Amino acid sequence: MLGSTVPTVGGIEKAFYWGDRWGCEAVQFYLTLSRKWQVDDISQEKIDSFKKSWKSSKVKEVVAHIPYLVNLISENETTKEKSIERMVAEIERAEVLGVKYLVLHPGSRGKQDKEGAIKALKKSFDLVLSRVAPKNVKILIETMAGQGTALGSSFQEIKEILSALDNDNLFSVCFDSAHVLEAGYDIRGKENYKEVLDEFNKYIPLEKIEAFHLNDSKTKVDSRVDRHEHIGKGEIGLAFFKELLNDDRFKKIPKILETPSMETMSEENLKVLRKLINK
Ligand SMILES: [Zn+2]
Repeated sequence: MLGSTVPTVGGIEKAFYWGDRWGCEAVQFYLTLSRKWQVDDISQEKIDSFKKSWKSSKVKEVVAHIPYLVNLISENETTKEKSIERMVAEIERAEVLGVKYLVLHPGSRGKQDKEGAIKALKKSFDLVLSRVAPKNVKILIETMAGQGTALGSSFQEIKEILSALDNDNLFSVCFDSAHVLEAGYDIRGKENYKEVLDEFNKYIPLEKIEAFHLNDSKTKVDSRVDRHEHIGKGEIGLAFFKELLNDDRFKKIPKILETPSMETMSEENLKVLRKLINK
């Protein structure tokens, strides 16, 4: 299930216009204004129009990204409380719109050690889940590049996070190709593709990957610098994407572009990816 991040200028239902225009089976966007803490109410009319647009489009799956403002492990109590509140609002919004997947960056730990940060994440989610009971939503913890003090840049850390959160029905994983390379896993080439997934599987069952972010990387293996690049124009090269797109285990999993200049370039990046799919 191949797709892209799509613009939502003019309303979230516009996602399906762009999705269809680019031939996406899956799309990703923010459900709320990503740069503001304030979440505006949504009218029934808006909800209906979103669902109608979705139904009449060819897009099968919607993945929503939690805004980067959210840091559930912030050392700043105010930011942490706002993040918890926002997480609740995002889950409620996803439920009402029928959106199944919410992708979350585990957060920046600042001066906390890894164990402390994972405990903080568990505590924050306990508070989130005391305020909202998700029914159909799944939260996908994204693999991170390890820039700064970002939590979740190794498969072991992702495993530890999932173990601490201890809710297999609610939490799964979003595997970002650029982040994984940048975090130090060499995913270049056919052999390495297999090896890296085997390595992942040592920590977390591959079935726990419920979305992929398909991005090439501007920076090198183990750079720990998060810079996305157009498919085939970066350090990863095409072999990884070719293997992934033809791997039957992941056939039904949303694979979403987050490459630069999406308005003008996503369509082109999708074409590059489609050429890699064996007929
Ligand atoms: Zn990503």
